[in-house]
Amino acid sequence: MRTHDVRFPTSQTLDGSDAMNPDPDYSAAYLRLRTDAGDGIEGHGFVFTIGRGNDVQVAALRALEGHLLGREVEETLADLGGVWRELVHDSQLRWLGPEKGVMHMAIGAVVNALWDLRAKRAGVPLWRLLASLSPEEIVDLVDFRYLTDALTRDQALDILRAARPGRAEREARLLAEGYPAYTTTPGWLGYDDAKLARLCREAVDQGFTQIKLKVGGDLDDDVRRLTIAREVVGPDIRVAVDANQRWDVPEAIEWITALRPFDLAWVEEPTSPDDVLGHAAIARAVAPVPVATGEHGANRVLFKQFLQADALSVLQLDATRVAGVNENIAILLLAARFGVPVCPHAGGVGLCEAVQHLAMFDYLAVSGTLENRVVEFVDHLHEHFVTPVDVRGGRYHPPKAPGAGTEMLERSIREHSHGG
Ligand SMILES: [Mg+2]
Repeated sequence: MRTHDVRFPTSQTLDGSDAMNPDPDYSAAYLRLRTDAGDGIEGHGFVFTIGRGNDVQVAALRALEGHLLGREVEETLADLGGVWRELVHDSQLRWLGPEKGVMHMAIGAVVNALWDLRAKRAGVPLWRLLASLSPEEIVDLVDFRYLTDALTRDQALDILRAARPGRAEREARLLAEGYPAYTTTPGWLGYDDAKLARLCREAVDQGFTQIKLKVGGDLDDDVRRLTIAREVVGPDIRVAVDANQRWDVPEAIEWITALRPFDLAWVEEPTSPDDVLGHAAIARAVAPVPVATGEHGANRVLFKQFLQADALSVLQLDATRVAGVNENIAILLLAARFGVPVCPHAGGVGLCEAVQHLAMFDYLAVSGTLENRVVEFVDHLHEHFVTPVDVRGGRYHPPKAPGAGTEMLERSIREHSHGG
């Protein structure tokens, strides 16, 4: 295992700025797994962070090394459900969560690096590898502990079997048309009005049918910026807003009510990401404005509660915050069980490259639909990846290269390594 503390100075241009994170430096606690299989193939994974603390995240990656060294490559890759359970339920590391925070995210990076390795060795992109698994193989990847009051293994199998008919047609459509995206590029809070207007116009010209604006700093500013955005994009483009956890519950209700005339596609992260009942109260009060959340959702148990409590109507899973591909699949299955669309969080360095695989897998093998589904897109830092996303006409076009999309260029890792 080799690890790297990679940081990009995005705070200099205020890319990524919002009401809670005014100066992020997009960073990756980055991991490479090498084997002695003789094929030269490496598995790459990372945790996305926004600067300070990336070194702590790297230390958490290193704490998992003992679980990996000395394992048989083929055996390990053939049982990633078993590896997931071993890592997540380590009897001592578990104390640092359980199943949340720095240690859990580190496990996610290791799990994703193993999936990258497996997909590269199989010579296929991750979305296609996952979609080729049988329903039984897929449920074996999922830990149903703590889920069975909402989703049992048998129910998950039913969902997966129900999605089998029509799969070839969906794959053909995916390859021809791509997967719908929306863009957050215009909406960062640190951009001035002229830049906001210009980027909104460019988004529409590029074929996006939904944009997202950051809100929650100052209500008058939000009204002014939404007025500009609506004027530029017109009534037919969907406009979502994102408060990045800025409000208490009563304030959220008041603020969202004031923004309702702008016909919001959704309001994202109105309050603390852990506050299930708070989100439920907001959702009831601001209906029919949909409430979206999940990028800071720590694990499948929390998502289960959000779904049980009708506390969200757009589920924004983050591929690198929960414990990797396996827990993503658990949450996709939960969302399908409750009939809630998953619109994954992306944007941060490498997230677009990673999450597209899971969204495409969902379309082919889990939910079987694109209805009300969009994957976030932000046009930053793609040039640092070996297989950057292919977003054209407002859609993600399926990656064809083998792997999980998580491999950063050697030169980028070297040039942006923190402290040297
Ligand atoms: Mg957000």
